Amino acid sequence: MDSMVNHYTAARRRRSDDAYTPEGKAGARPDYCTITYCKILKQLYPDVPVVIGGIEASMRRLAHYDYWSDKLMPSILVDSGADMLIYGAGEQSIVEIAKRGIQADIPQTAYIGKMPEDTADSIVLHSYLDECRDKRKHAEDFKLIEIESNKIHAKTIIQPLDDGTGRAVIVNPPYPQMTTEELDAIYDLPYQYLPHPKYKDKHIPAYEMIRFSVCLHRGCFGGCSFCTISMHQGKQIISRSKANILRQIDKLKDLPDWKGYISDLGGPSANMYRMSGVDRSLCERCARPSCLQPNVCKNLCRDFGPILDIYRTVDNLPYVKRAYVGSGVRYDYINEPYARQLITRHVSGRLKVAPEHMSDTVLQLMRKPKWDEYLRFRDMFYRINSEAGLRQQLIPYFISSHPGCTNKDMAKLAEETRRMHYHPEQVQDFTPTPMTLSTTMFYTGLNPYTMQPVYVAKTKQEKQQQNQYFFWWKDHGKKQISH
Ligand code: SF4
Repeated sequence: MDSMVNHYTAARRRRSDDAYTPEGKAGARPDYCTITYCKILKQLYPDVPVVIGGIEASMRRLAHYDYWSDKLMPSILVDSGADMLIYGAGEQSIVEIAKRGIQADIPQTAYIGKMPEDTADSIVLHSYLDECRDKRKHAEDFKLIEIESNKIHAKTIIQPLDDGTGRAVIVNPPYPQMTTEELDAIYDLPYQYLPHPKYKDKHIPAYEMIRFSVCLHRGCFGGCSFCTISMHQGKQIISRSKANILRQIDKLKDLPDWKGYISDLGGPSANMYRMSGVDRSLCERCARPSCLQPNVCKNLCRDFGPILDIYRTVDNLPYVKRAYVGSGVRYDYINEPYARQLITRHVSGRLKVAPEHMSDTVLQLMRKPKWDEYLRFRDMFYRINSEAGLRQQLIPYFISSHPGCTNKDMAKLAEETRRMHYHPEQVQDFTPTPMTLSTTMFYTGLNPYTMQPVYVAKTKQEKQQQNQYFFWWKDHGKKQISH
């Protein structure tokens, strides 16, 4: 997790807790911890190369807007002084670096080097300083980066430093998509599935959440504008084999405190397991950042057979009392058999889904399904519950102040939820995290794909106003709407 998302709220207030430390105590890590740690290491061991990775490094690999300092920042390689950066899930790059040391040709890495020749296999962005001078250039560059990050055959991305040294940040293309066998080999390593022994008997909230959860695949083809997954892991789904997943579950049952419950049979989006384009050659040439928006791609194979097979097999294991699906579910392409299995066997009373808004203009900018799709799923959810004699709830999540969202859109949302007799509680204010489409719109006020202006609620007051529309059923919300 990016240290700034971890430490601050969407209103830039410091959080009082930290789910990633023992007893949830805040203050264990510095802000911008990758930069701080690199600087300390470089002071202590100036001759030892430093390689950075993880979400904070990955999502700051090129010039990016940093919400907390309200500034455009250069690649984190510049401020950290690190010798190399690995983006995405870095297993293959780490092994290669361990074998050969830091080399410019290692895929899925970035480094600062001499400005290379511009070739057909590379894209040269505007320099960081040019982006600082002109927001349009930042928007143009973001579009190129996002498209490239979601391609099967990506190009090298080059961003000149423009600092008089003739150097540039060079981002190598990723490794070819991993096979199931390669992914299985990673999950078959002898993990302990426990925190470091020095935290023995300590309560780490984030660990409690994931200790009995199982990730079935990597990647997400949803392409939600505010999400980091596709820029980090890509759009293509890499799935584990059924046998490999079952081997992990078999190990979980031997962990301390196993009570027979799996908290999540999931993934970046729970229901994308083994899904991909039918005609691979079309995907190889595809530049769409999302397979679902603005419409579900006709080439996308939506076969729920493999995931249903996993759910049913796990459900029948004698030592599993219940296996829940805690990860988010995309409901825009869901079918009845999948919905029935999910709702009747893998929901623990409340299913959380993320329509995020109800205004189709805002939803389009978010790359989320239309509101009608949510209503269709909601009807299906309650019908299946009633047929199965269950009384579970569907809990929608919403975001205010997303770029493109006006007070009028929020008033519509308030009106619609009032009509539905629904009191929204799972709501959040939009947080611009590094290198997402939404953040680029927030910073530049432009949609990078059309270069059209986008309204952005930026000030604390504008953001608060939008947020209060969620609470039309409370006194302060009523006042807001009457204004
Ligand atoms: S062709 Fe369709 S299924 Fe394949 S990557 Fe592109 S949008 Fe996705």
